[in-house]
This record gives sequence, C-alpha cells and structure tokens, in this order.
Amino acid sequence: LSSSPKPCRAVLAMAGSGKNGTNESITKLVSDLNSSTLESDVDVVVAPPFVYLDQVKASLTDRIEVSAQNSWIGKGGAFTGEISVEQLKDIGCKWVILGHSERRHIIGEDDQFIGKKAAYALNEGLGVIACIGELLEEREAGKTFDVCFQQLKAFADVVPSWDNIVIAYEPVWAIGTGKVATPQQAQEVHEAVRDWLKKNVSEEVASKTRIIYGGSVNGGNCADLAKEEDIDGFLVGGASLKGPEFATIINSVT
Ligand code: PGA
Repeated sequence: LSSSPKPCRAVLAMAGSGKNGTNESITKLVSDLNSSTLESDVDVVVAPPFVYLDQVKASLTDRIEVSAQNSWIGKGGAFTGEISVEQLKDIGCKWVILGHSERRHIIGEDDQFIGKKAAYALNEGLGVIACIGELLEEREAGKTFDVCFQQLKAFADVVPSWDNIVIAYEPVWAIGTGKVATPQQAQEVHEAVRDWLKKNVSEEVASKTRIIYGGSVNGGNCADLAKEEDIDGFLVGGASLKGPEFATIINSVT
C-alpha cells in the first residue's frame, strides 16, 4: 500500500474508537468483513482499539491491513499507558492514525507533537494516516484552508518522506454528527490540500498522495463523494461498525 500511486484508493475504518467495540461486536465485524466481496483495487485498513488489535490482526483476512489509532513518539523508556511503534510492528500492524480530531481537541495534542509522532512512526516503517480538519467556528470564520495548511505544514516540516502517508481530511463538525460535508465542500478542501502539496512538497507527491475524506460517511452518501476528482477514499467511523454498509462504502471508491 505504501508507495502505490493513485488510482489505487484507500478506505480506512475506525472499527470502534473510544467507547465502541466489544469482543462480541468485533468478532462479528471481522466475520462480516471476511465474507464480504471487496473490489480488488481498493486498499482497506481497519483500526480497532488497541486491546482488540492483535485479535483482529490474527482473525482478519490478509486482504485487509490493521492500523493503530495512536502511537508513542520514541523508543525505550517507561511511558505508562502508551503503545510503542515497535510493539505495533511486533504484532504485524502496518499503519497508525495520527492527529485525529479527538486527539487534537479532547486530549490536547498539538501540531508539533503529532508531527514528531508521525516522523518517528514513518522512520520506523509504519504508514501514517495523517488527519487534518477545521472546527465549525474556524470554517465559519473563513479559516478552513489556513487551519488545514498549518496542520499539513507541521507534518511536512518533519516527515522523512511522503511515500507512506495518507492524508485524511476530516472537518471536525462532520465527525460523528451526521452532518456530512457536501461533495463540493470536501472536494474544495481536497483540491486545496493537493495544491498545497504541489507548491510546498513536490508535484509528484501531490499527484501520488491519497487524500481521503472522513466525517459522517455512510452507505448513502459515499457514492457522490467518491465521484469527486480529489477524493481518494474514506475514513469511516460509525458506518464501519455495520459490516454490510462498510462493504458498500469500500466498493464505492473504485
Ligand atoms: P464518523 O467518524 O464516520 O462516525 O463521522 C469519523 C471519525 O471518527 O473519524
């Protein structure tokens, strides 16, 4: 997945962040996914909570990769409660989501801290799903691009390469609210992000990097979003908890 150029698209699921997910529900989700027919040119990654990661990795078809929802910044030492990149690699996990809006706005992680975690994970060979996105008040104040570019710059300033990064644009007001961005709203930001990469990183990185949309994606709205030129896939929360609906979303991005 790391260096595959477009048009191989990505769909990421957060199968049960925070309060979601129990042994029983996750076993059922894995079984549904294992029996789903998935389009072959879509990369699928699921990100269960840490406590279920090993179990999901062991029982899920090899067709689907697993991702962590967070990782620690460095090697060694005692950091009680944190999970290291080395431990993730040890169980065969290939991806980590960093900068999710809940980490930024509830836990209080700032751009620089998230950047450091991304640089460390990438240097150690994990792929990073780098989340960016504006709050409602920032959108209403006309600051959407400024916020996204600033978050993007914090990644760009420190990452060793863009080969293994997927950008997830997730407007905070759309996450878990049922208020999905319109295809035009999402496309406008994705296009601007690609343009920013072109000007600030390189033309090659801009054209190869997959930019996925997250925020109230479901089986009903995914097809229209997927038609947009710069939307290369989705990061799905709530709808990924429903096996068949998640398969519909995966197959919408081909
Ligand atoms: P949602 O969640 O699809 O339920 O809005 C997305 C996310 O948590 O990133």
